[in-house]
Order: sequence, then structure tokens, then C-alpha cells
Amino acid sequence: MSETINVTRSSLPGFEEYCSEIRSIWDSHWLTNMGDKHQQLESELKKYLGAANVALLTNGHLALENVIEAMELKGEIITSPFTFASTTHAIVRCGCTPVFCDINPEDYTIDPAKIEALISDKTVAILPIHVYGNLCDVDAIDRIAKKHGLKVIYDAAHAFGVTKNGVSSAVFGDAAMFSFHATKVFNTIEGGALCFRDETLNQRIKDLKNFGIQGPEDVKYVGGNAKMNEFCAAMGLCNLRHLEVWIEQRKTVDERYRERLGGVPGIRLNAPQKGVRSNYAYFPVVFDGYKYTRDEVFDRLGGHGVIARKYFYPITNSFECYRGRPGFDPDSTPVAKHIAECVLTLPLYPDLSLAEVDRICDIILG
Ligand SMILES: *Cc1c(COP(=O)(O)O)cnc(C)c1O
Repeated sequence: MSETINVTRSSLPGFEEYCSEIRSIWDSHWLTNMGDKHQQLESELKKYLGAANVALLTNGHLALENVIEAMELKGEIITSPFTFASTTHAIVRCGCTPVFCDINPEDYTIDPAKIEALISDKTVAILPIHVYGNLCDVDAIDRIAKKHGLKVIYDAAHAFGVTKNGVSSAVFGDAAMFSFHATKVFNTIEGGALCFRDETLNQRIKDLKNFGIQGPEDVKYVGGNAKMNEFCAAMGLCNLRHLEVWIEQRKTVDERYRERLGGVPGIRLNAPQKGVRSNYAYFPVVFDGYKYTRDEVFDRLGGHGVIARKYFYPITNSFECYRGRPGFDPDSTPVAKHIAECVLTLPLYPDLSLAEVDRICDIILG
């Protein structure tokens, strides 16, 4: 029996590299609360992402909640249900109402042609998701938002390092959230960041992620705790040095999958987007009219020790916790519902060997 292949495998720097990075944490005994590593990573990311304002947080989810709160959004937020639980939960937990827009069947991002019909006098923002390393139609979304005076916050958890005509995914919309979770292309073990246009949000987000405390005797807001600690920031500093190589290795895996699975009837691959440099975060395959259903392919792979992932499935507007709530209806987003039933993301990480990719493809095609 061959070894198990997981859908992903966290990227790590060399052990010695990380040890040497955290040496100064031992020397200073400063473990969290915006220490040297936190500040260094923030400024490195500003450069790498080309963003005017960057804030580091404990994770991507709290970053989303914090930016919704910092912008004082109250009302309806148009989003897509073809995402990870976090996006919809953040909207609901902040006291806003998600209004679900369908996706387009080409790149699985929100369909801008369907947004305007969902705008009401309660709409305050659009929260689209860049999925699998594909970018949303940022120009169309920008036009709609401007016309109706809406904020745009991108869930860019999948789009770290992605550019469109050389422009970073961090600068589209009013704000972008990145996740640095262990399973993402760039990780800080757990972590997240916000990039945003309005510099007055800097102080607000700084306060919100640290209990609303502005000074030793001065508590301005009812904030929570969402500070990235020094060990996570140190991991980020190390991983950032390797990122470009890792993206290249991911690309090699992506290309091999395309060679093997491209052009097979009933198998649809994620088409590269024009002008977009992907980060090859995921390799989604849509099994639609193939000799095996998605669930059959999932089970066949599992039987050979290959763990693929039904991602995203189920879609968020069909979650049990939302059942019965008005507006939460998977039938209102038929494209998202259909893709969620047919899609499987295959194992993809920088050191996945081409022999392993071949083994996976043989099982799928067999
Ligand atoms: C990972 C992810 C999140 C949440 O990020 P965390 O850092 O795990 O909190 C949100 N949205 C999407 C699309 C994600 O993939």
C-alpha cells in the first residue's frame, strides 16, 4: 500500500532557519503585543503586497470581523455562498445580513451581472470571495459599488500573491482580507491580515484587535483580542523568503494535472484567467457528466489513500445552523449549488512529486 497523500501539507522553512529567527524573542522575552517580529512582518508585507495599510491579526476570520466592525457596517452585505464557513459567519456574527448572489460557472467567483438586482436600501457593502486563486471581476464590482455608494471588502484568503496585470490582489476594493492559516499558500501557523485604502482605519483596527485599549488608562472601544503573536510573525518572516519558489513548485504540479486531465470528456478544469498571475492555491476539478460522479471519484481516491476535499461543499446558504432563516436558500444560487455538488479539489502542495500526481490521475482516469 502506498503512502497516504493528503489534500495539502503545510509549507515550512528549514528548522534551523526558524530557530535563528526566534532567537531574539528569547533574548527580549517579548512574546506578543506588536513586538519586533510583528512590526517587521507588517512592513515586509506592505512591500510584498504593495498595500498602503496592512494590519496583522490572529487569523483571517477575525480579520474579517474586525474590518466589518471598523467600517461600522450595519445592514445587508451582498456575498456569495460558494466559500468557506468563515465569510458568511463573519457577516452574521457582526450583526449584518448576508444576501446571497450566485457565482459564474467559469471561475466560481461572484457573478457581477446578478449583483444589482440584489441591492436594496439596506445594502451597505459587497463581500466577494476570490476563490482557488482566481480573482473576482474587480472592475465590474468596483463600478457597481461606486454607482450605489457601497463598500467592497474582498475575502482574499485564497489570493495571497495573486496579481492582475501586475496589480496586487491586496489593493482591490476598500479592503482585502488574507488568511495565513497553516493550509494556505503563505502561512504564519495561524494568522491573517487586512489591507485597506482608508488610513484612518489603522487606529480603529489597532484598537479593535487589542480590547479597544488606546493607553494604560484609556479604553476607547469594546474591542476583542486578535493580535498576531511573535512566533507566528517569525514564521511569516521565514516563509515569505520561500514563497516565490513554492508558487513555482505549485505551478509545476498544476501543469502536470492539466496535462493528464485536460480534454477528458466530463472533466472540467479551472481555466487560467487572462492577465492574472495565480498562486496555484488549489486544483479544483468539476466532474460533470464524467463516467464517475464527484462522490465516486472522492471515494475511489480515498480507497487508495488519497485524500481529496469537497471544497466548497456544502455551500454556506445550506448550512444546518442557518436552516429556516429567510434568504438562506441554496436554490436561489443554482450555479453555486451545482458546482458544489460536482467539484473536488485535488492534493496540491509545493513538494508533491509528479509521480504522486500521476498516481492520483491514474486513479481518477482508471
Ligand atoms: C481560510 C479561509 C478563511 C478563514 O481564515 P482563517 O485564517 O482560517 O481564519 C476565510 N475565507 C476563506 C475563503 C478561507 O479559505
